[in-house]
Amino acid sequence: MRRFHLIAFLLCLSVAAVAQTPRLTLKEAERLVPRELRKPVKSFIPGSRPAAHDTLDTSNPAVKLVLCTDGTWHYSRDLSALADSAVFRKCWKTGEINPYRTRMQDLPWRVTLILADSASRYCCPRQVKVFSPFGHRRHRDHTGVDLPLPTGTPVYAAFDGRVRCSMYNRGYGNVVVIRHASGLETTYAHLSERKVQPGDYVSAGDVIGLGGSTGRSTGPHLHFETRYEGYAFDPQWLIDFQTGTLRHGYFVLKRKNLSPMSKYYPESEEEEEEIYKTEEEERAEAERIAKEMAAAKYHTIQSGDTLLGLAAKYHTTVAAICKLNGITPSTTLRIGKKLRVR
Ligand SMILES: [Zn+2]
Repeated sequence: MRRFHLIAFLLCLSVAAVAQTPRLTLKEAERLVPRELRKPVKSFIPGSRPAAHDTLDTSNPAVKLVLCTDGTWHYSRDLSALADSAVFRKCWKTGEINPYRTRMQDLPWRVTLILADSASRYCCPRQVKVFSPFGHRRHRDHTGVDLPLPTGTPVYAAFDGRVRCSMYNRGYGNVVVIRHASGLETTYAHLSERKVQPGDYVSAGDVIGLGGSTGRSTGPHLHFETRYEGYAFDPQWLIDFQTGTLRHGYFVLKRKNLSPMSKYYPESEEEEEEIYKTEEEERAEAERIAKEMAAAKYHTIQSGDTLLGLAAKYHTTVAAICKLNGITPSTTLRIGKKLRVR
């Protein structure tokens, strides 16, 4: 009986692969395809899966059907089938943490990263409250999140992928960089020990090293980064580290996220709408902001200046100046401080 189900199932799978699907516009496709992937993905608990008993091919050479000893089955992605694909060849350097030389203006406005689906799991690299967030700092930008952990604690691969770097670096200490099929790279730094070698294929939940405090570090913690084409973005866009949950099975990464100024903010209705903006809308918005920045005018406060006086001088209103600078009409104007007036 079980065998019959399996055959019927495999048949469906190959039929689905051959069937012609009508062409969708980009917007329609985006609305449809990721719908199921919008659900949060719970972290895989390492060691919780029963042993594999048999592995069967599917119509997709990179996807296998794994039968387990307890009678259950699941899909598994075989990334070695993608060894020759562009994603594992482009800028593939094993001794350089960031080998990309991509110019920001050559990146797409947005790219949909499939993080976990029915054939690939997700595992939180370390479930704990973020100790130090990603982003702009007074002296130096922080390109990842810091997650405290005792030395020797296992650190898990977040997604299926291929190890690009496993090396020692003065800043990062013992560091592992994994490239994933979506082009995303994840970095695990300050490890006391590395458990993988460049070229290794790893599954989400595999132990890639042990926590430590090597390199430029003041105490045991995991410095975890997410990068695309070498540009870091806030890992909290993807993962809620406190609960260990992946926010969605996919993430629409926008060019504007690839900046130390773009920190994660909790989701809102607006963000959901934002995801469905077309590329033209996105470009128009970027152009509007650039134009606005170019037209911006600043005034250095001198003795005797008042908001009312500045509003009159620059043909604007007190309310407009307040809004531009995040101040109120009663804010004291300090001499020498710059105010944006337009
Ligand atoms: Zn850090």
